[in-house]
Amino acid sequence: MDGISKFRSPMSDPVLMEMLAERQLDEVPLFSNNRRNMPAQAWGAAFQRWEELAPDGDGPVNPEKTPVSDAVEMTRLIKEKARELGADDVGIAELTPIMINEGRSLGHKYVISLLLEEKYENVLGGALAVEMETIDVYVRCAEVSTELSKYVRSLGYPALADHNGTMEVQAIPAMVAGGLGELGKNGSMIHRQFGANFRPGFVLTDLPLVPDAPDLFGVQDYCMNCKLCENNCPPAAIAASEDYVITEGYKRWQINIPKCYEASRLRDEYCHICVDVCPYVHKENGDREKLGIYKQFMGKRRQAGWRTTQWFLEDEEQVLNGGGRHEPLPTVDLEVDPGRVNTAQARGAIGAAE
Ligand code: SF4
Ligand code: SF4
Repeated sequence: MDGISKFRSPMSDPVLMEMLAERQLDEVPLFSNNRRNMPAQAWGAAFQRWEELAPDGDGPVNPEKTPVSDAVEMTRLIKEKARELGADDVGIAELTPIMINEGRSLGHKYVISLLLEEKYENVLGGALAVEMETIDVYVRCAEVSTELSKYVRSLGYPALADHNGTMEVQAIPAMVAGGLGELGKNGSMIHRQFGANFRPGFVLTDLPLVPDAPDLFGVQDYCMNCKLCENNCPPAAIAASEDYVITEGYKRWQINIPKCYEASRLRDEYCHICVDVCPYVHKENGDREKLGIYKQFMGKRRQAGWRTTQWFLEDEEQVLNGGGRHEPLPTVDLEVDPGRVNTAQARGAIGAAE
């Protein structure tokens, strides 16, 4: 089946390329190796790990097929296995063309969506800490999806792993159909427990499974009256509440991509603000600890000015005076653990250099 969802490559989207040309830039500032606070080693290690995992993302299927007489029980086993491998939640949907990126073609019957939490407390460490957490979770998503695909193939059924290093699946339609949450105005899926603070991985398969039903718990209605992401997005790239289209029965607020790129690609600091200001990190799950962190973070944003690209008041001072947020980091040679890239060891080295 051919994919029909538009896909924007994080590094080579034509809109981004045009913006670089207009500004006579020869590389994306966010991904520049010369960036002041670039965790280049961590991104490099992530790419390396994705390459290492690639051969195991697909492959020969065990010729001795395990008979499946009870798809409900097999579904339970697969979800249990995914959690054992490190997923924080799992959802299953029948694969449809909207769940596949344009230019890609997949013939599987089901998509298993795996969700791994990004630790929210990193917001208090600033943009670099959030970025390091993101890289770490992206790598773990690839590891979990690859291991699960190997497990499914060992049962005698085709299975293909997909993640940020392969990018076949359009994440939000697959996750929403698989019952993991609802699309929010900030363009992210909102999960009951983790809000928008997670990253996904996927396994495509023909193993007999039972799809989940969508989990609609009121996010899209709440977004109609909440303006937190809208009012915190530095370049005002997020649409107003009533400015949505309906796709497959769901509201979809379109992000103004060139405006978003101004803050999220053409600056040399990670922008994750629309995710981190979303109250669903504590609202539905009632997590008091996350509520406390959320209040501290939002207090700092209020002081700094809601639309600031910088996260903290002291940084805002520097930016207004034309300065940067971070002193250049000393070069650190991260030791890459071949079995586990972008480890706490890598995080420690960056942290110690700050
Ligand atoms: S990533 Fe940053 S610039 Fe883009 S929509 Fe979110 S808050 Fe706005
Ligand atoms: S911040 Fe508010 S409007 Fe934005 S996605 Fe979250 S709940 Fe919806």
